[in-house]
Amino acid sequence: MSNNNTYELVVGLEVHAQLMTKTKLFCSDSASFGGMPNTQVSPISLAHPGTLPKLNEKAIELAVKLGLAMNCDIENKNYFARKNYFYPDLPKGYQISQHSAPICKNGFLSISSAQGKKNIILNRIHIEEDAGKSVHDIDEKYTCIDLNRAGVPLLEIVTEPVIHSAEDAFTFLTELRKLVRWLDVCDGNMEEGSMRCDANISVRPMGSTTLGKRVEVKNLNSIRNVKKAIEIEFERLVSLTENGQDIIQETRSYDADKNITFSLRSKEDAEDYRYFPEPDLPPFIVTENYINHIKSTLTKLPEQIKADFMSLYQLSDYDAQSICSEKEDIEYFESIIKHTQHYKAVANWMIGPLKHFCKEHNLSLHQFPLSVEKIADLISFVESGKINFNNASGRIMNAMIENKALSAFEVATELNLIQEKDENAIEIWVEETLTSMPEKVKEYKSGKKGLIGLFSGDVKKRSKGKADMQLVQRLLEEKLN
Ligand code: ADP
Ligand code: MG
Repeated sequence: MSNNNTYELVVGLEVHAQLMTKTKLFCSDSASFGGMPNTQVSPISLAHPGTLPKLNEKAIELAVKLGLAMNCDIENKNYFARKNYFYPDLPKGYQISQHSAPICKNGFLSISSAQGKKNIILNRIHIEEDAGKSVHDIDEKYTCIDLNRAGVPLLEIVTEPVIHSAEDAFTFLTELRKLVRWLDVCDGNMEEGSMRCDANISVRPMGSTTLGKRVEVKNLNSIRNVKKAIEIEFERLVSLTENGQDIIQETRSYDADKNITFSLRSKEDAEDYRYFPEPDLPPFIVTENYINHIKSTLTKLPEQIKADFMSLYQLSDYDAQSICSEKEDIEYFESIIKHTQHYKAVANWMIGPLKHFCKEHNLSLHQFPLSVEKIADLISFVESGKINFNNASGRIMNAMIENKALSAFEVATELNLIQEKDENAIEIWVEETLTSMPEKVKEYKSGKKGLIGLFSGDVKKRSKGKADMQLVQRLLEEKLN
């Protein structure tokens, strides 16, 4: 991208997250996904005349929860507003949303970007109901409507236009999805549409502080597609600007197969939604008491747990990050370290051999077939220097899985893999190695120090992997220098 230094990318994201409530926002229809079309539709969802909405308190709780976790101010005095527009999948002809007073304001989410830690500032989080779904591809002639989704509670999370790379947008969404899952606010499943993202994108000359004209890209059904759409849209907007062409404020769609965006509709004159306060719902007050109560139920966030792990167990940033992205991994780590204090090694095993095995066998980590006691045992055994890591994570681990009655020690003994620490025995292998390669020894002595790896590899082979490699290294250096 040759234009990287001339133009700055500016992105603001709007994320819709479906709340994990059992029922809809204003009635008791099931809010679950995947039911037969139009089976979760009482007269309220269908907007029959005379039906009235009643607020689901659980949705408020989840909104406050996410707002607190994202460092927001929580609005005390809330009301809903009608957003009027006509669309076949909107039975009432208006959507009940929040307008000028969103329940959460002024928050941020920290991400680590290529330039270091960044706070992505939020504009707002508000509550609204979802519309139904128009299905265009099951009937040749007609668009079909499924109203199961009509009235399902959503949070709309809106960032300020403060994201300046596709990579940061990717990271923000990844972190956001982790967070909503962590809090049990939303299942974060973008493929099923329970988390959806629109990207607002503009460009401006580097150094400028005014905003350029924006386009809004919709239909982004994975975090990867958000990133790709931003990348190609940046290119497109820059090239329009360079060619002196106008940028049209419009809504565009992303076609993942062709990796292009195309215009859906112009947005030059803002739609008039004729907002007004919803007359069928009273304002709802969120008291400080209630907010404090939610605060007290919040579990530690992954970021805090990661920081704790780094200081308590001396884990590196990378290790702590890998372990702290899923609740289950954190619990798994904590249960292994009840049985061994080699924290760093436990992290390595989790990220390395255990994860590999589970991936291969389609298991999640906590389903790993050995008990945490046995894993801890195996790890301690390696750390004591009596077996090497490769054997332990390969043949020994596999044999233990096959015969769960055996301990790491029994397997290692049976397979003859206890490391040889006897200096005399190792010295014999070292001698054999060096006499078998006189030419290489000469080369080493005349300066090709890299050959030490060849020698130690040969010793390892002669010992059938049993030689203690630290000892081998020392003896080789003694003999050669
Ligand atoms: P609307 O409701 O019409 O989509 P908003 O003003 O609420 O408009 O903005 C929606 C999103 O667009 C926000 O995330 C905001 O940060 C972003 N945004 C607004 N203007 C720009 C711009 N010029 N470039 C990039 N993003 C923008
Ligand atoms: Mg928008």
